[in-house]
Amino acid sequence: MARAFDVVVIGSGPAGYIGAIRAAQLGLKTACVEEWANPAGEPALGGTCLNVGCIPSKALLESSEQYEHTLTGLAGHGIAVSGVTVDIGKMIGRKEAIVSKMTKGIETLFRKNKITWLKGHGRFVGRGAGGWQVEVSGGAAEVVEAKAVVVATGSKARHLPGVPVDQKVVCDNVGALAFTEVPARLGVVGAGVIGLELGSVWRRLGSKVVVLEALPGFLAAADESVAKEAWRIFTKEQGLDIRLGVTIGKVEVTKKGVVVAYQQDGRDERLECDRLIVSVGRIPNTDGLGADAVGLKVDARGFIEVDDQCRTNLANVFAIGDVVRGPMLAHKGEEEGVMVAELIAGQKAHVNLDTIPWVIYTSPEIAWVGRTEQQLKAADVPYRAGQFPFSINGRALGHGDTHGFVKMLAHSHTDEILGVHIINTHASELIAEAVVAMEFRAASEDIARIVHAHPSLSEVTHEAALAVGKRALNM
Ligand SMILES: Cc1cc2nc3c(=O)[nH]c(=O)nc-3n(C[C@H](O)[C@H](O)[C@H](O)COP(=O)(O)OP(=O)(O)OC[C@H]3O[C@@H](n4cnc5c(N)ncnc54)[C@H](O)[C@@H]3O)c2cc1C
Repeated sequence: MARAFDVVVIGSGPAGYIGAIRAAQLGLKTACVEEWANPAGEPALGGTCLNVGCIPSKALLESSEQYEHTLTGLAGHGIAVSGVTVDIGKMIGRKEAIVSKMTKGIETLFRKNKITWLKGHGRFVGRGAGGWQVEVSGGAAEVVEAKAVVVATGSKARHLPGVPVDQKVVCDNVGALAFTEVPARLGVVGAGVIGLELGSVWRRLGSKVVVLEALPGFLAAADESVAKEAWRIFTKEQGLDIRLGVTIGKVEVTKKGVVVAYQQDGRDERLECDRLIVSVGRIPNTDGLGADAVGLKVDARGFIEVDDQCRTNLANVFAIGDVVRGPMLAHKGEEEGVMVAELIAGQKAHVNLDTIPWVIYTSPEIAWVGRTEQQLKAADVPYRAGQFPFSINGRALGHGDTHGFVKMLAHSHTDEILGVHIINTHASELIAEAVVAMEFRAASEDIARIVHAHPSLSEVTHEAALAVGKRALNM
């Protein structure tokens, strides 16, 4: 007889493993199907985020920032260093140790919450008396039954047509997080979040990096003033060579590396590099899921169709995370995981996609929540803007890092905060205050009247709120 569960989650990335834990916390008998194997061939939980995404990229970002800071940032503090070298093997080893600690941590959480880990590939095969039937293949194949199924199969890197990714010379995020040496010349196709983050890592470690971007504008999703400031810092100060509005032609792997033919402003150009990172977006994982076998609706781009509560067209089948609409961000998937577990348990739950924070972990970091100034203009929403720079904040001066500003946008009539945009080394931490404020539908006046610790970077958010009412105190 088939093993039966209240909930079977397919995929153990941040959306799936968090959904499974919440379901188990609510007393539901839960299993999670996961097919991932780590480079040693061992089954691993955690999905893209823990294995080849958020966690390893941030480990390398930190290592590369420490290196660059040692080389260029210490002198201003009166600290002289010499003979600074990088051991890439050790750096990658540190990253792998962090990944292993995190993925093993999920195994512990699964044991603690009595979640059954079904190792292998999961796919729908039908519906029986006990609910949905999911076949798990890999080791000894078995079919399990579930009253509710949560699809959390995530996404994978989109590749360029006709350009095979070998993860050695031409890489996506997987290979780019595991280089064994610093490539002298690195090409990056795509100036999105992942391309900029990974390009920055290897630039800091010594690569000459050229980024080729199809769009004519830079960081189109960000507020224009932030994108402009980021462009200035990345290109002028840091020497990142970003070429916009290019059309990629033939990509040829040679004995020496890769040659990328491209067009820019009608001119034929070539980029010769030792390694190429392809970061042109991600596509949802629905291959081999058996969607057709049960009539699960998938749209033309491969995303599973869901409503606001992540319900699919099938009764008691939910889909969450990167495999559905909305930003491809780990924390968005996690909250959807919590929501669907609570819905399955009969509770009320929702996720507010309007207050999802976005972060780009470049140096300085870029973070925002809510709408950009250009979106408010396009929607004819009356607003007031307040902006304050880090360059006159005492804590930022102490850090020796005064890049960027906080910009707050609030409705002209109600003063409700509509968007907060931050560019600064600690933007990922600072944005949390803005998310809380917006979730509580705060006014800029609320932030302006809240006491912020001195000296702290959060004072810049305070001053930006004051600046909405044209009463910034320190400028
Ligand atoms: C380099 C990089 C850096 C990133 N940095 C950040 C960041 O800093 N912050 C952030 O918020 N987001 C970041 N992201 C995005 C983030 O990783 C994703 O949004 C997140 O992992 C999505 O979670 P998920 O659970 O939906 O899917 P995934 O993490 O992709 O997990 C899906 C899991 O499902 C498994 N699976 C798929 N199909 C099946 C099947 N049929 N049977 C069994 N198992 C299956 C896969 O093996 C995988 O383990 C980054 C991504 C990359 C690539």
